[in-house]
Amino acid sequence: MEAMGWGRYPKATADLIEPADAQSLQKIVASQKKSASCISRGAGRSYGDSALAGQLIGSRFLDSFLALDEQQQTLRCGAGVKLGDILKVCLPRGLFLPVLPGTKAVSVGGAIAADVHGKNHHRDGSFCQHVIQISLVLASGEVVSCSATQNQELFRASCGGMGLTGAIVEATLRLAAVPSRYIDQRSLVANNLQECFAHIEDNADSKYSVAWLDCLATGDDMGRSVLYLGEYSKGKNRKSDRKYQDRSSISVPFSTPSFLLNKSSMSLFNSTYFSLQKHKSRTSRLDYDNYFFPLDRLSNWNRLYGSKGFLQYQFVLPGEGALEGITTVLEKISKQGKGSFLTVLKKFGEANENLLSFPRSGYTLTLDFKNETSLFPLLDELDRIVLDHDGRLYLAKDARMSEAVFKASYPNWEAFMAIKAKVDPHNRFASLQSNRLGLAT
Ligand SMILES: Cc1cc2nc3c(=O)[nH]c(=O)nc-3n(C[C@H](O)[C@H](O)[C@H](O)COP(=O)(O)OP(=O)(O)OC[C@H]3O[C@@H](n4cnc5c(N)ncnc54)[C@H](O)[C@@H]3O)c2cc1C
Repeated sequence: MEAMGWGRYPKATADLIEPADAQSLQKIVASQKKSASCISRGAGRSYGDSALAGQLIGSRFLDSFLALDEQQQTLRCGAGVKLGDILKVCLPRGLFLPVLPGTKAVSVGGAIAADVHGKNHHRDGSFCQHVIQISLVLASGEVVSCSATQNQELFRASCGGMGLTGAIVEATLRLAAVPSRYIDQRSLVANNLQECFAHIEDNADSKYSVAWLDCLATGDDMGRSVLYLGEYSKGKNRKSDRKYQDRSSISVPFSTPSFLLNKSSMSLFNSTYFSLQKHKSRTSRLDYDNYFFPLDRLSNWNRLYGSKGFLQYQFVLPGEGALEGITTVLEKISKQGKGSFLTVLKKFGEANENLLSFPRSGYTLTLDFKNETSLFPLLDELDRIVLDHDGRLYLAKDARMSEAVFKASYPNWEAFMAIKAKVDPHNRFASLQSNRLGLAT
């Protein structure tokens, strides 16, 4: 089959095996030749090549709910369960996932392997900080359970480890009690990047916080943006406020001709969006689905970037240099005539102890770029700015970072490799990304 990530770049030919349960997965892994490599694949919502290899192990059938403890607020489930399915079951019981990425289509295994973050990292950390235990099938075929207290090294390497230590088959997650499915959203307009940073800092105690930026505004307007803050609606704690509602979505039926995406169309989109938001009501009450997953309403929106796909570029810069570094990045992009529809800025809290997790204290900026030959030299230049500011790129979005950039910005890569060498000495779990980044034993 032809396989690809959400960015539809790069593409690879792969065999897909979808074991029916953990025991079948064990047998498959144990019976493989030592030289054969494979990688787990969840819902394919990572953008680049982290879930691409000649052989893919799908988790579609590892989709059981194994135990929900409402008193302890924990859930044990298969790695193939989607975050949206968890919300469907838990929300009517007043329980929610403490950390959610921007799509509910992600699998539990994929969320753990990338240690995903949400709009509340500054308050609640990343997904794996709410993971109590995981079970994974190692290259030997053995199933091992690990947690922050049991097989701790393996846990720290596997949370955020991009599937390279083994295939996660199940996990126990901590849930959070919520009063309702509604979020009270407040929006604040910022006329430039400095004002946006000031708004974010002034509202750092807000539960959820994310800013949309007009990435093509220049001069005094550079970084003009809208900051969206969110808190759970207190309401009257009625049962109906915790009801799960599945929304319908519309689908993009085919790839859009990519010539429609040029600097003028993006500039028009960015400035129109900013003007509309500027004059819109500053407070609103949104269903959690509209607040957390607005992009899920347009399924297959990745086709909008044309048949060659797109690259999402997400980096984090630590506190002090972040404003200056992000300004330099925006200047460089607009000078090159490139643009992004979706440019998002978030504040991160402290890093956790996982060896390859992306978040660290500072600011993270995300941009989408249409895939074209002239993009790659620009991204190399952006990498240099990121490194100069002591930052790093997110592996779940990456499709082209060099080994040198990766190793210079993920200081724990050697500690990670030492653990991988113990549990996967023949490099059975490998992806196109891990081969490119020099993460082979
Ligand atoms: C619209 C959209 C919005 C997003 N927003 C955010 C966001 O706000 N924050 C954020 O952090 N991310 C975000 N992402 C990225 C996404 O959350 C991550 O890429 C996530 O890892 C995807 O999970 P998946 O199940 O699709 O895994 P895949 O894309 O299939 O795989 C991703 C990685 O996880 C590994 N993996 C998958 N399953 C397993 C398993 N069972 N065992 C071991 N390893 C496994 C794969 O080998 C691969 O390395 C977004 C993606 C999209 C498309």
